[in-house]
Amino acid sequence: MIDSSPYFVNLAYFVAALLFIMGLRRMSTPKNARSGIWIAGVGMLLAIAATFANPELSANKLLMLLAMAIGGGFSLFHARRVYLARLPQMIALYNGLGGGAAAGVAAVELLRVTEHSTAENILAVLGALIGCIAFTGSMLAWAKLSDRISTTEYFTNRQQVYLGMLVVVLILGLLLAFSQTVHPLMLLLFFIMSLLFGLAMTQPIASEDMPVLISFYNAAAGLAVSFEGFVIGNPTMMVAGSLVFAAGVLLTRLMARSVNRRLSEIMYSGFGLKHRDRHAGERRGHYNEVDSHDAAITMAYAEQVVIVPGYGMAVAQAQHKLQELTQLLEERGVNVRFAIHPVAGRMPGHMNVLLAEAGVAYEKIFDLSEINAEFRKVDVVLVIGANDIVNISARSDEKSRLHGMPILNVDEAGSVIVLKRGEGQGYAGIDNPLLEDAKTRVHLGDARETVQELISAIKSLD
Ligand code: NDP
Repeated sequence: MIDSSPYFVNLAYFVAALLFIMGLRRMSTPKNARSGIWIAGVGMLLAIAATFANPELSANKLLMLLAMAIGGGFSLFHARRVYLARLPQMIALYNGLGGGAAAGVAAVELLRVTEHSTAENILAVLGALIGCIAFTGSMLAWAKLSDRISTTEYFTNRQQVYLGMLVVVLILGLLLAFSQTVHPLMLLLFFIMSLLFGLAMTQPIASEDMPVLISFYNAAAGLAVSFEGFVIGNPTMMVAGSLVFAAGVLLTRLMARSVNRRLSEIMYSGFGLKHRDRHAGERRGHYNEVDSHDAAITMAYAEQVVIVPGYGMAVAQAQHKLQELTQLLEERGVNVRFAIHPVAGRMPGHMNVLLAEAGVAYEKIFDLSEINAEFRKVDVVLVIGANDIVNISARSDEKSRLHGMPILNVDEAGSVIVLKRGEGQGYAGIDNPLLEDAKTRVHLGDARETVQELISAIKSLD
């Protein structure tokens, strides 16, 4: 319930909400994204200042400041130091912390059930459950993305165990919401079960479904924050949470479409739907190698070159070298474009962030739907550290675990040069028949070094 806070506090919350919306709007294009982040940041600062200035605030301000200093200090330190290739893990971690914070607010409010209406208690319980799932689910996603956990275990009777957990969580939640007295032990059990349920739900989800999962937990954390905003009567939390929820839902749909999966197929995989066979579609064959001199000649004398970056480019931090290579080719009259798959790398927009950081012009960057029909007219495709997003088994092999995922049709181009380190597979863990294609030649080595070799070889042509 929104209490009657002084006029200026509500006005500040209203302005903050407008700033969030403006910020989000600007983030929809890479060109304005930086200013969008600043605008949303100013909105958040205003909301925090209004909370502190609220004369009806009864909380200990010193403790609030201390918590902000610890949390803000840690994230500032961490975000400044984080190596760009680890950005996806950081996003998963911060998603989870948003859900965890909402669950923390719910815990405090559920210790005061008698002060709230039943409707508010139901929202608190729902926010707690969703927040806990987003928290432990995102932590597990973080561990999977950082290769701390690589296995996906399935045990017999798991469906019964998971459904049993869900029933227990729901019964405890209902008891808490309708109770007129505080039950700390029941509350503790509810939280433990909700956290465990988040782990159980995430654990069986296959690695190739991670992009969808991360976006889903982003939306879930937003929903939990928005519910808790209703419970404590904070309009900024309601608006910010709803915006994150709405954006997260759209992103989840986009990601699910990009890997050709339904959300239900992914989320209930632990509950009985069939898993894809991990080993289906695997094979290892011979591929043709190319040295930097021949690769450079192929690109330098082409008319149309398309560069397809993937996770390996992020690992190698090769984006700056790639921009240098692009400029060199353009000076020779080659038309160079970049093709971005929606799930390239390890987080939505991963490649766009790195290319923008290197100064690649936005108008040279095309997404899958824009460029796929163009590959037939392209002379050379340079695939740099990408595998799953160009894995032709997704198109042609019904047994492949990637089957049905739209890919960048690079094999339709005149020739394909692949830069990779060695025998590694992609995230889905299956081989890529593109490598064995007669049109494909592979140049082995760390991508930053091999792009540097291409640069030197092109310069030596003059
Ligand atoms: P992949 O993980 O499929 O392939 C990466 C390729 O890069 C491998 O072939 C690897 O081979 C090569 N590589 C790794 N390091 C280097 C290096 N230093 N220099 C050169 N090459 C290197 O990446 P894609 O971008 O093609 O596909 C993304 C995958 O990640 C998809 O399966 C997607 O579902 C998943 N995913 C995406 C998320 C998202 O939100 N975008 C989130 C979570 C998962 P080698 O080891 O031989 O070098």
